[in-house]
Amino acid sequence: MAGQREPFTVAIIGGGIGGLFAALSVHHHCAALGISINVYEQTSEYKEIGVGVGIGINAVRLIHKLGLGEAANKIAGDRNGVWLAFRRSDNGAEIVTVPVNDRDTIKQLPILRSEFLDLLLDSIRGRNAATLHTKKKCTRLVDIVDKVRLEFADSTSATAHLVIGADGIHSSVRSQFAFDNPRYSGKIVYRGLVSIEDLQPWWHLSTYAVNWVGKDKHLLIFPISDNKLLNVVALVSVEESELGNFQESWVAVGNKEEVVSSFQEFEPHARMVLELMPERPSKWVVNEREPLEQWIYLNGKVALLGDSAHAMSPHQGES
Ligand SMILES: Cc1cc2nc3c(=O)[nH]c(=O)nc-3n(C[C@H](O)[C@H](O)[C@H](O)COP(=O)(O)OP(=O)(O)OC[C@H]3O[C@@H](n4cnc5c(N)ncnc54)[C@H](O)[C@@H]3O)c2cc1C
Repeated sequence: MAGQREPFTVAIIGGGIGGLFAALSVHHHCAALGISINVYEQTSEYKEIGVGVGIGINAVRLIHKLGLGEAANKIAGDRNGVWLAFRRSDNGAEIVTVPVNDRDTIKQLPILRSEFLDLLLDSIRGRNAATLHTKKKCTRLVDIVDKVRLEFADSTSATAHLVIGADGIHSSVRSQFAFDNPRYSGKIVYRGLVSIEDLQPWWHLSTYAVNWVGKDKHLLIFPISDNKLLNVVALVSVEESELGNFQESWVAVGNKEEVVSSFQEFEPHARMVLELMPERPSKWVVNEREPLEQWIYLNGKVALLGDSAHAMSPHQGES
């Protein structure tokens, strides 16, 4: 209609945890402004890998601000008063135990990534917060004065006043403004889930949140999914020259024997946990990005978010 102002449009590239959370945040905080939000995801569905993630307290506060705290707490694991028990890898002796108050409403969240992504998706749909597109791989951004044109691999395009590049460590948005490559962190990681029920008959500690620290490797476990599942993260330092083809593939399928033999000098309980891992755990090359001088480009019309801006290697399994 003549005289009607075009709504401000936000395009979010990448529908991972970062992109979907950004969509909900913009919608929540700018509801009165009538902003139109589109999320463009390259794959055919919005999906996360089936492993755990520990969400730190600063991010948890934001989750509560969006009104999702209670729902997130329900799918998190309970630590039974212990955030993490650091133990020696050779004999299991306690190094230091970090407490947590499980009764706090706002607390760190150990959570299954796929369950958390589903929570974000349900909220976006329930609030009609954004339009979710799939099979839209963004290949290029073009500055068109007051807006940005997004070009996709399927030869379609869209425009937006603001573009948020939430397209992960291989970010195509970042590659238009910064010319670095992801850097190998020196570590590979095996990840898998174990049913807590399977541990219970022989488990010896009051908590399932343990980090066995060894030389050049550590094994981290913590409960997720309302304490039904144990997230297992086994990190090993490996020289870059030993990675071979695996370095190019980034993620591969490992096998349980490989993990168990990598941790053979660890104390029996740690090895018993590894014996319960899936036969084919996932195996990742852990990469990171150099810090950038800036995350905002084209006079504020493009911003990077999440791993596209600052991918870091997980610190003791949790960043
Ligand atoms: C072993 C390991 C353990 C970790 N543990 C923790 C932890 O405990 N706590 C923590 O806070 N962090 C942890 N991290 C880091 C955390 O996983 C990442 O920081 C986080 O997942 C990044 O989210 P993101 O949305 O930025 O990127 P991603 O999750 O990578 O999502 C990017 C999305 O963009 C899509 N995409 C990519 N390119 C395009 C394109 N060109 N066009 C359209 N879509 C595109 C992808 O398909 C994907 O859906 C860990 C990382 C590793 C490797």
